[in-house]
Amino acid sequence: MSDTLFMYPEYEVVRDHDKCIACRVCERQCANEVHSYDTDLKKMLADSTKCVNCHRCVCFCPTHALKIVKSDDTYKINANWDKQTINEVYRQAGTGGVLLSSMGTPKPYPVYWDKMLVNASQVTNPSIDPLREPMETAVYLGKKTAKLERDEKGRLQDTLPPQLKLSVPVMFSAMSYGSISYNAHESLARAAEELGIYYNTGEGGLHKDFYKYGKNTIVQVASGRFGVFKDYLETAAAIEIKMGQGAKPGIGGHLPGGKITDAVSTTRMIPKGVDAISPAPHHDIYSIEDLRQLVYSLKEATDYKKPVIVKIAAVHNCAAIASGVARSGADIIAIDGFRGGTGAAPTRIRDNVGIPIELALASVDTRLREEGIRDNVSVVVAGSVRSAADLVKAIALGADACYIGTAALLALGCHLCRTCHQGKCNWGIATQVPDLVKRLNPEVGYRRLVNLVTAWKHELQEMMGGMGINSVEALRGNRLMLRGIGLTEKELSVLGIRHAGE
Ligand code: SF4
Ligand code: SF4
Repeated sequence: MSDTLFMYPEYEVVRDHDKCIACRVCERQCANEVHSYDTDLKKMLADSTKCVNCHRCVCFCPTHALKIVKSDDTYKINANWDKQTINEVYRQAGTGGVLLSSMGTPKPYPVYWDKMLVNASQVTNPSIDPLREPMETAVYLGKKTAKLERDEKGRLQDTLPPQLKLSVPVMFSAMSYGSISYNAHESLARAAEELGIYYNTGEGGLHKDFYKYGKNTIVQVASGRFGVFKDYLETAAAIEIKMGQGAKPGIGGHLPGGKITDAVSTTRMIPKGVDAISPAPHHDIYSIEDLRQLVYSLKEATDYKKPVIVKIAAVHNCAAIASGVARSGADIIAIDGFRGGTGAAPTRIRDNVGIPIELALASVDTRLREEGIRDNVSVVVAGSVRSAADLVKAIALGADACYIGTAALLALGCHLCRTCHQGKCNWGIATQVPDLVKRLNPEVGYRRLVNLVTAWKHELQEMMGGMGINSVEALRGNRLMLRGIGLTEKELSVLGIRHAGE
């Protein structure tokens, strides 16, 4: 029995027929086939049951005749059984399957970035004007030496392990070719090159066309080992071992067969049209010692010239896990918080597993400092870094840099409809359908990404200047620059900051 028998549509398409000129643009723009023209009635109709609220038609309607509204249809008020919970039961009773979702959790968990306030200088230690005075935003990611050494002639020994230099402490998160389109990848790669930062292949391998961006590419080695071979490792600037992902800790990846086109199958080295399911664990890693073996295998394979990143999901004991990772030989730890986006994840996992990145970051940084191993690794965080303000707060809490994923996709035109897993992204991002992929012009996409990160860089400089700080390095872990607002003693203690007014 169809779900639609049980459920009223979540969204309604509202068309102002006085404004509609029946140009049928909305019909052509919608891959979900919501709009159609009725030749008898001589007017446009809409099937709201198919609408995912991606806003493509709203944006392209030349007469602003369209609106998508949230349906106000309601079940009998019940604080225990809300509408979404009831509809999910109907859906599962209809399909017998695990519910799938995309992008970050929409649940109203606390966003700690919004409960922290940033300091500003007054009178003494005056603020710095970034337009007139130097302001250093470059950072180097990688293991730092504990002490400086000189040779017999007094020259400084250059023994620093391989580092990644970023012009601004922002990188594009792991998003695989397959989960996102060729044009989205090209936009990210070109933007990373122009900005002097890095983008990340995710677990999808690296398309041959993008090898030329290798010096700005982080390649991922995940549990499925998709697309991993010698050239792939050698081309990259750094290698990331994915142990976990914030949106779906504890489980592997899943790319539906519909997204495995010829090019995706060649790049991933897997059959076309068959679901790509990477295992939950790496089958060769059951301890930090095993992880260390993989870290050193990858270093050995690339002549010890590239930093190795280990990415973990933010979970309850992530500080202890990070402590182990910092001793595994990894150069960088990436921690992914549970509000991070995803191309496809089981809804229950996405919405209930993991912890916010702010708490994970603070506890990891504290633990590594307490154990005297903070400089063994750089710490990169991800999982809903939405603005330059979040970036500033993350650095002050202890991050060396941040990955951004959802913000980057928004810059490309994503409207957060959260249906990436269906493969019909109307904005040409999370799709492999050629006619949809074409909608994202990589020339425009890359420019918008460059603009976004450039804007954040200016804001970062302004905020640092306001604090009287002239380099990201001086802001890193400077928690005195933060105050909590509306937080409990316990939350303040985990974050390691004082309350506003103290
Ligand atoms: S795009 Fe706008 S004007 Fe054109 S048919 Fe659709 S609703 Fe009407
Ligand atoms: S990438 Fe596309 S499908 Fe995914 S949330 Fe954004 S607009 Fe929707």
